[in-house]
Amino acid sequence: MTTNAIIARYAEVFLKRGRRAYFVRLLRDSLRRQVSGVGPFKVQDHHGFLLVVHGDAKGGVFPEFEVDEGLDAALKRTFGIVSYSPCQLVPREISIIDRAIHRIAVEDVKGATTFKVDSSRSDKDFPLNSMDLNRRLGAIVADVSGVRVRLKNPEVTVSCRIMSRFAALYVDVVRGHGGLPVGSAGRVALLLSGGIDSPVAGFLAMRRGCTVDAIHFEAAPYTTPQARAKVVDLARMLAAYEKNLRLKVVPFGAIQADLRDNAPGKLLVLLYRRFMIRIATRLAGELGALALVTGENLGQVASQTLENIAAIEAVSSLPVLRPLITWDKMETVALARSIGTYETSILPYDDCCSLFVPRHPETAAQADVLENVETGFDVEKMVTEAVAATETLEFWPTSKCEPSDP
Ligand code: ATP
Ligand code: MG
Repeated sequence: MTTNAIIARYAEVFLKRGRRAYFVRLLRDSLRRQVSGVGPFKVQDHHGFLLVVHGDAKGGVFPEFEVDEGLDAALKRTFGIVSYSPCQLVPREISIIDRAIHRIAVEDVKGATTFKVDSSRSDKDFPLNSMDLNRRLGAIVADVSGVRVRLKNPEVTVSCRIMSRFAALYVDVVRGHGGLPVGSAGRVALLLSGGIDSPVAGFLAMRRGCTVDAIHFEAAPYTTPQARAKVVDLARMLAAYEKNLRLKVVPFGAIQADLRDNAPGKLLVLLYRRFMIRIATRLAGELGALALVTGENLGQVASQTLENIAAIEAVSSLPVLRPLITWDKMETVALARSIGTYETSILPYDDCCSLFVPRHPETAAQADVLENVETGFDVEKMVTEAVAATETLEFWPTSKCEPSDP
């Protein structure tokens, strides 16, 4: 359909009273950032929805544009947007609305089996009510397209929304990811492994409004540069959803080798994990993160029993969020595919946690047993050295980000 505006909807019912203006402002800013990164677009705030229009729009004139893949992706990357509709935005004069619906009848309804018109007025001043509009516009569409009206389950629904100065006509309703605008829920540090689960966990934390930075433990020199490249790619994919993302890469090989040589093999996975959490909480402090996020999932692998999760969490001074804790692997894989991280996650590489690990790891560890083993190590020194040797990479979305006036 010929488009000169996009209606982007958010679920107002989820917005807490008193916080509405704040959420809408964050949402508008992140939508603006996303769409201005893919073309000359700006975002206007209307009552109850946002409108994406061409950057040259002014004085009620809205240049046409195409909703291509890039723009579609930008809209879907904006958390908080529940759905969007490319529309024809016209002055709310009945003769002009007639002409616009005529065009939609030709472009979008012709060739279908059935249709209906669904009108609504957010401004009750308009002389025709919704029923009148449905009848009038429905008659034009039927006449022009030769398609039959069917009120129940029509193939095409043409919507007409009357606003205070304009009318919006649209056919498609495209679903977004919903959630809350990035930045509305504080900062978290994601433990990003390069596997399937942790990028999805990061995505879910972002969808709840968290600003995400990432921490990766790298077992160099025991792992290949490809292992790092993979994590960098995943971090870049996640960065596309927010303003910028920092990735901390922690050299972890020396700690792993030390533990392997001096601790019982059965406990290695848990000891690695406890060191990771200690280092991550330290780095979270530097990043200003209020919680850690992992891709842990109950019972999926031996280290993820309730006992072991407790023994790992015991060394964290921050809450550990586990968005995938109850998910089936199939569900995680499906989401990983749909957000595009799956193909990268399954590239073969050496995970630091698959290194030096025995075939039968402990499944019911006690924190005191682990603490006892750790007394044989200079934990503080190991953690401090790893933190000091950590590299920071920074990702900015490719988007240029120009403020645009509402
Ligand atoms: P994933 O698919 O995310 O690798 P997994 O199912 O393989 O998870 P584990 O290997 O037990 O499960 O890892 C559990 C979680 O611990 C990961 O989701 C991740 O959050 C964190 N983690 C594991 N290894 C690393 C690493 N090398 N760097 C950063 N975080 C890690
Ligand atoms: Mg893994």
